[in-house]
Amino acid sequence: MSYQLTIDNERCKGCALCVSVCPKKVLALSEDVNPKGYFSAFQAHPEDCNHCAICCMMCPDVAISITETADTAA
Ligand code: SF4
Ligand code: SF4
Repeated sequence: MSYQLTIDNERCKGCALCVSVCPKKVLALSEDVNPKGYFSAFQAHPEDCNHCAICCMMCPDVAISITETADTAA
């Protein structure tokens, strides 16, 4: 089983809590504003994510989710 981290760009208010708590330095704030006018978080280094879910627990706007994805390899 694999895991997919998703950040809901429209919920994010750019508080950067997730950026600061990520132990792997995966996240960063975008240089572009989202529809609400905030510089939203994105995965700058998704390959380093260990899916620990700390960012999901910290986000006050519940903008980050981790879902299981079925491996497609036969
Ligand atoms: S799941 Fe963990 S490693 Fe991945 S972005 Fe969130 S805090 Fe960082
Ligand atoms: S903690 Fe949530 S609201 Fe704050 S920057 Fe991260 S995703 Fe956006």
